[in-house]
Formats: sequence, structure tokens, C-alpha cells
Amino acid sequence: MTKWVYSFGDGLNEGRAEMRNLLGGKGANLAEMAANGLPVPPGFTITTEVCSAFYENGRKYPDDLRAQVADALARVEKSMGLRFGDAQAPLLVSVRSGARVSMPGMMDTVLNLGLNDETVEGLARSSGDARFAWDSYRRFIQMYGSVVMGVPHHHFEDVLEQFKRAGKVEDDTAITADQWRAIVADYRHLISTHAGTEFPTDPQDQLWGAIGAVFGSWMNPRANTYRKLHEIPASWGTAVNVQSMVFGNMGDDCATGVCFTRDPSTGENIFYGEYLINAQGEDVVAGIRTPQPMACARAEAGQHPMETTLPQAYAELLRVRSILETHYKDMQDIEFTVQRNVLYILQTRSGKRTAAAALKIAIDMAREGLITQEDAIRRVPAASLDQLLHPTLDPKAERVQLTRGLPASPGAAAGAVVFSAEECEARAAKGEDVILVRIETSPEDVHGMHAARGVLTTRGGMTSHAAVVARGMGRVCVAGAGSIHVDYAAGTMTVGAHTIAQGEWITLDGGTGAVYLGRVPTIAPTLSDDFNTLMGWADSVRRLGVRANAETPDDAATARRFGAEGIGLARTEHMFFGPDRIGLVRQMIIADDELVRQKAIAGLLPFQRDDFASLFRIMAGLPVTVRLLDPPLHEFLPHEEAEMAEVAQALGKSVEEVRNRCAALAETNPMLGHRGCRLGLTSPEIYAMQVRALIQAAVIVEKELGKPIRPEIMIPLVATQAELATTRRAAEDEIARVLKEEGTNINYFIGTMIELPRAAIQADRIAEYADFFSFGTNDLTQTTFGLSRDDAGSFLPYYVDNGLLPRDPFVSIDRDGVGALVRLGVERGRQTSPDLKLGICGEHGGDPDSIAFFDEVGLDYVSCSPFRVPVARLAAAQAALATRNRVGSPA
Ligand code: PEP
Ligand code: MG
Repeated sequence: MTKWVYSFGDGLNEGRAEMRNLLGGKGANLAEMAANGLPVPPGFTITTEVCSAFYENGRKYPDDLRAQVADALARVEKSMGLRFGDAQAPLLVSVRSGARVSMPGMMDTVLNLGLNDETVEGLARSSGDARFAWDSYRRFIQMYGSVVMGVPHHHFEDVLEQFKRAGKVEDDTAITADQWRAIVADYRHLISTHAGTEFPTDPQDQLWGAIGAVFGSWMNPRANTYRKLHEIPASWGTAVNVQSMVFGNMGDDCATGVCFTRDPSTGENIFYGEYLINAQGEDVVAGIRTPQPMACARAEAGQHPMETTLPQAYAELLRVRSILETHYKDMQDIEFTVQRNVLYILQTRSGKRTAAAALKIAIDMAREGLITQEDAIRRVPAASLDQLLHPTLDPKAERVQLTRGLPASPGAAAGAVVFSAEECEARAAKGEDVILVRIETSPEDVHGMHAARGVLTTRGGMTSHAAVVARGMGRVCVAGAGSIHVDYAAGTMTVGAHTIAQGEWITLDGGTGAVYLGRVPTIAPTLSDDFNTLMGWADSVRRLGVRANAETPDDAATARRFGAEGIGLARTEHMFFGPDRIGLVRQMIIADDELVRQKAIAGLLPFQRDDFASLFRIMAGLPVTVRLLDPPLHEFLPHEEAEMAEVAQALGKSVEEVRNRCAALAETNPMLGHRGCRLGLTSPEIYAMQVRALIQAAVIVEKELGKPIRPEIMIPLVATQAELATTRRAAEDEIARVLKEEGTNINYFIGTMIELPRAAIQADRIAEYADFFSFGTNDLTQTTFGLSRDDAGSFLPYYVDNGLLPRDPFVSIDRDGVGALVRLGVERGRQTSPDLKLGICGEHGGDPDSIAFFDEVGLDYVSCSPFRVPVARLAAAQAALATRNRVGSPA
């Protein structure tokens, strides 16, 4: 018989932390905490396998599930001394989702389950508090009504708002038992009108309704979106946790809250969190009342920290904080409830954190001896370093502060104000920078938050939905800016004397919580000591070298600052577009008189020499790979009439002649046309000029710096051995001439890009003429898939959305196809030349998953854009550790 249900609490703990695949993160940790003697209310977990079976069998449960649930429920009843559905002393339960990895707010939860018109009276009697009982009942109806029966949540809020206004009550806590009783009647009426059926009064029906809703919510659109964004397979399923209720809403000696063992924004080792007296969990997350801080040290004037209001429970929570962090060896996000001064722990999980916090926590924990240096390297998601490299506000810039909210997720962002997720997504798709402004966010807004530069809410705390989700996504977020009045209907936000309409700009500072009018300039980030420490640790374990793709002095300098060990790709065509050069480039292309043409090429030489010399100076002896001209010539041609006239005048031709020449050069498929080495073969003077400029620059800088310079000449778009052999010979002849003229010698290398399938297949033959290969995975992806780099955007998203491709192959390497060609190129290239230097310089060089693959196939280095260099250094270290583990572990 398959075991579908696992009990926890009160001495029977059938699960363990390691069983998260089966029990989900929440269920596994509840069992683990209970087994370690922490105060966890008893309950049971229905496994993720039930979820999978449910979907595989047309939404039907396994036959023996009901019996197993009944047994586990009976055990909870026994340990609580209560009975489910009993009119005298009813057991109430919570029903909550819990997937393998946490998906905050994405799936459904029902609290206070088991209440009806009879049991509510029993609860009132047994607790001696009718107000509490009726408050719990209305909460239950509201949650069950919206989650299970599909009545939109705001209808319940409207009923409550109307009631409050009529009775002139401001705070929920001031509503009396009789008033809640009346609201319950209104809620039930609301449900029967909206859902077309009555609210179920049998607790067993309620329980199975809620279980079904949680399993159903695994496939809801927002969970689907979240899974897609975080690459969580639908096949994992969610577990369902049914747990005895404890109550934070029984009076002023009760509370509920969420806390983090360290600060999730900065990573500081201080206890951090929020709580509400006399409330239930959803009140904290929903931001209906403003939560209070945990610790006195964190409290401002007028606030009521838990340390003073509930000192006994607070002391107990500090003890739990230390036990959990030591046990799990990671920062924990803990949900708790205090019922009549007694603390209960409802959940613990590894806390979501900003990139800055992840870094600080990893370094601190390694220094505290809680984890190893290698653990610290693994703990920081490589892609998240991007966030640390993002701009902050220029402190010198003028600014008008509108207001201040909570600094929920760091960074600075400016953009046009929009008030809906849909508008946000639509504008962002057109390339506009947008700030999503909402009273509060809900999981329905996740797609808009993803598209936004930043998120601003007027309600809710640091653990509100907006704060948690934005932090996880790395979006700037200012939460709970209560002085802002948002009018969705008018499309405006008003703060003090300022009214800002949709489309007008504001700036957010997620580090301080400040909101500014208009666009405030930003500056590049400075990197913390922790960042440098982590990079140092990463460098000590990685095998792959990391270079940068850079051709401007600025980019090259940035690359070095971020630790690049050379330039892996300087695209020389980018040097042709400068205003002082493009005229000469156009003359070179259009001239039919050979002398005029030679003159234009000669005019370009000093520019190129200076360009290369700057790169050599900045790289100071590190390798610099310069790629000879790659794109088809027509890319440089004039388009505007005035530009044509300019070229015509310089060449003594008519505009008509220039126009005809431009038309003649146009190609139907330029990406597969007259480009790369094909151009170098048919117009050898261009490559000769580039090679001459490069060697002259190396000679100059070598003398200047008094140390060897390492120029690497890279020939693009090679398909055959003959192409490379001929181009190489021509380059070597030119180099010999230059060195003879200069009367010196230079150590240079000539290699090729492997960016066509034929080149990968013929790599053994091509290697006979190459000192190095650099895989051009952009073109290799394009040509392997037969998928245009420039046009795929219109249909690739469809492929990814519909599971036809797991990811965009231009972002993350397609291991099975493009990757197989890389592997083949490596094997065949090294067959001919065991010392062949192997790198990759396509966009994949900065993608952590692709880097893991390149480490696996044995490349020597990756080359990526300068800002991704730290990401690549860390990803390379993580890849090396993963390989070490694989090799080290028994087969
Ligand atoms: C490539 O094709 O991967 C490459 C690096 O070259 P480019 O992107 O310039 O074509
Ligand atoms: Mg290319």
C-alpha cells in the first residue's frame, strides 16, 4: 500500500527535512522541527505524489487516500483533545500548500477550517471569547469563499468596508462578536448569490473542498507563471499540509508574525521581522494593518516592538531562532503564532533574500564556521550578482522627494508611472521604463512586476507580497508608502501638493524607501569587501578562465575592474562607426578607383592602431583577441540622402551612382552572405590593414610598457580548412612585413571562431591552421537551428511558452544540439592539436547554466560582456565544485 499521508507533531514524526520532494518544503520542515522538539502544532502532510496522481487520473484521488487522511486526523484530534466538527470542543485546522521549493503566495491556503453555526458556538464557549470565535468564523468563510468557491476576494472586503463605515468602526479589532455574527450572515448570502451554491457546513466537505482547492491551485495561472519564471517543472506537484490551528487572534496576549533570522535586505546578523497583536497570519501578509517590529533596536518612536509587548514569547522566539539557524545552517524565514503567551512555530524555510544579503550571509556564515567556503560559493546564485552591479542614485543629483516608504528591495529605478500590471507589461514590451504603482500587489500582478523597473505600493510591510516578490526578482521596491493616494479610476497618484498622472516619471530608491519626482540620475555601484572576498574564493576554485567581450577603452577598463583576465572578443566593426571613421569606411566600400580605395583604407589605419593600442595598454600584457571585420559591408552604407551626398562628394560621384552601388551590395540573407572571412578573402586589403594596425600597436605598447603584449588575431565565420589556411597565410605575410619594417619580433597567435556547424565537424582539419578556437555560439545557434538571430523574437517566445523549447537557445546553450557541436569541435580540435586553446565568446559565455556546460566539455575560458564577468567567475567556480563532487562521489 502506498503511504500517501505523513503525520507530524506530538511525538509521531514520520517525515524528515530530506523528504522535501515527497512532503514539500513546508511539510518536511514541520516534521523536522517537531522531531527536534520545537513547538509545532500537530498535523499531517498529504504527499506531492497524491498531486501527481490527482492530475494523471483526471483529477481523482487514490482510492485509499480518504482512509489514510481519516486516521491521521484522528491522531491530531487525540493529541489536541478536541474533535473535528464537535459542537462542544471543535478541532479547527489549517489547510496549506507546500511545494518542493517555496512559491510564496502562489497557491491556496485555508485557515480556521471546521467552523459552522454549531461549532462556532462551541469555540466561543471553550475559548470563553465569543468575539474571537465569530472573528475566526468570518475569516474562514471569507477565505473558503474566495479560495475554494471562487467568489472574488474584494466582494468580502466591500461588505466589511460598508459595515465599518455604517458602524463607524475603523479597526477590525474593534468589531464585536454580534457585529461579526451579522457580517457572517452577509458573507453567506454573498456566497450563495455569487457561487450559486450554499457555503458547506459539514466540516468533512469543507476539508475535502480545501484539499481539492490546494491541489487545483498548483495549476492556476499565477502558479504556472511563477513556475515558468523560476523553471520549476509542473510534474513536481504540491503537498497539502493539514495542521491543528493555533490562534493569534484570541486577544492582546496573542499575536502572529513573520521573522527572519538575519536581515533579508542587507544580510546583517540581526533578528528581523514583523508581527501583529491579536491577528491571524494573513493580516500580516495582506498589509491590512501595519505590522510592528520585533526588536526594540529596530523600533522607532510610537512603535510597539514584540520584545516589550510579549517578552516571554519573544525570548522563546530568540531561542528558536538560534536553534533553527544552527540546525539548517542557513538564514530562516519563520512564521509563528503566539496563543495566550505560548509560542508556536508554523513554518520555517530558507529565507528569500536580496543578492546583497545572500552575499553577506554566505561570507558571514563561512567566517562564523557555520558553513565552509565552498558552501558559501554555492550559496550565492551567480546570476544574482547582476543586482549588485546595478546603479544607485547619484548623491550629488538634485531631487524632489515626494515621500518615503519602506526600503523593500534595493537598487534605484526611474520610469513612467503605470497603475496596472497589464499596462506595465504592454509599455515595457515597447521598451519603455515603467514603475508599477499599486495600493498593494497580489499574485495576479506578478507578470507586471517582472516587466517593471520598480514597484511602489502604498500599503503593506517588508513581508508584504510586493516586498517578497520584488526582492526575489531583483526588482527595486518601495512598499507601504502610506501618504500616497492612488486613484485607479482617474489614473493618478497624489502625494502632498503633487498629482502624478500615468506616464509621468518618478524615481525609486529601494535602499532608503524614498520616492522622487521625475528622473534622478544614477551612478555605478561600488563593490563591497564581501564581494571581493567571494570573488577571491571563487577564483581559487574555478578552472575556467574568464575574459570579456570589449572593444571600447571604457568597456575594457570596466572588464578589468571586474576581474577579466583578458579580452576574448574585440569586435572591430564597432570601431568603424565612429564619426571620424565612417566616412572613410564608406569611401573604402564604394570607391571603384583602386587608388582612392587604398587611400581610404590607409586613412583608417591610424585609427585602428590607436584603438588596439588602447586595449593593449588597459590589458597590460593579458591576452587580447581581436576579431577581423565580420559583418557584410552593406551594414556600413549610408541610408539617408544627406549621407549619400556626402560620400558622393568625397568620391567625385553622383548621388545616383552611390545609390546604385548601395543597392548592388544589398543581400537577401546578409547573415549567410558576404561576411566574415569571405570578406577578408575577397577584399584582402581590409584584413591586411587591420593586421598591420594590430601588430604596429603591439610593438608600440610592448616598448612603452616594457613587457610582452599578447595579440590574438581571430578570423570569423570559417567553414573550411582552405578559408582559414589562405586567410592565415595572408595575415602572416603582412605580419612579417610589419615586423621587418619595425626591426623587432612579437609573439602573436592566429586562431578562428567556430561558429558554423561545418567548422565544428571539420575541427580536426581546421585545427591544423589554428592556434586557438573560440566558439561563436550566437552564430552557431543561428546556423544549427536555421533560426535567424534577428527575426526569432517573433516566434521563439511561443516555443518556450508552449514547451517546444525549454529555454531561449540564444540565452542558454542548447546542450543537445549546439552543445553537441561544441563538444565535437573540442574533441576533434584537440585530436589534431592537444594544446589548442579553447574559448567561447557568444552571449552564452555570461549565462551560468551554459558556463557549467563549457566547464564540463573542457573549454579553457569563457568571454562575456564586462558586467557579467563577476557572474561568470562565480558560475565557473560553482561548475568546478559540481564537477569535483561528481568525480569525487561513488559511481
Ligand atoms: C558569435 O557568433 O557567437 C559571436 C560571438 O560573434 P557575433 O555575435 O559578433 O556574430
Ligand atoms: Mg558570430
